[in-house]
Amino acid sequence: MQVMAGHWVTELTTPIQRDNQIMARRDWYCEDVLSRKIEVKVVWENEHVLAFHHPRPQAEIHVVVIPKQHVPSLLDPLALDEALLSSMMRAIQETARQLGLDHTGFYVRANAAAPGVTPHMHWHIIGPGVL
Ligand SMILES: [Zn+2]
Repeated sequence: MQVMAGHWVTELTTPIQRDNQIMARRDWYCEDVLSRKIEVKVVWENEHVLAFHHPRPQAEIHVVVIPKQHVPSLLDPLALDEALLSSMMRAIQETARQLGLDHTGFYVRANAAAPGVTPHMHWHIIGPGVL
């Protein structure tokens, strides 16, 4: 799948619209993934983080890394936890090696601070290739 800059990215951040008001997205990471309401294909995990294939991938390889504890945003003080950050980085490294992205290139996208962003800290690992 060809990654078109600026096209699919908006689909990832489309906010929920109700009564003509833009609502914050629901926290599907806690409500669906961490609660095990939906089954995801796990790439790597430890006690702090979970890396899994996005159920609605926007690229050939699209993995999401999330804290297992609720962290509302990367701007939240909870995001500064060293064990968490180290685990987030480890998840990126393990994902890249497991899926061959260490040879093809990839990028990491951390959405934050917009109404349409899911209110749970998350990093998208997207590839192959870079923009
Ligand atoms: Zn959450």
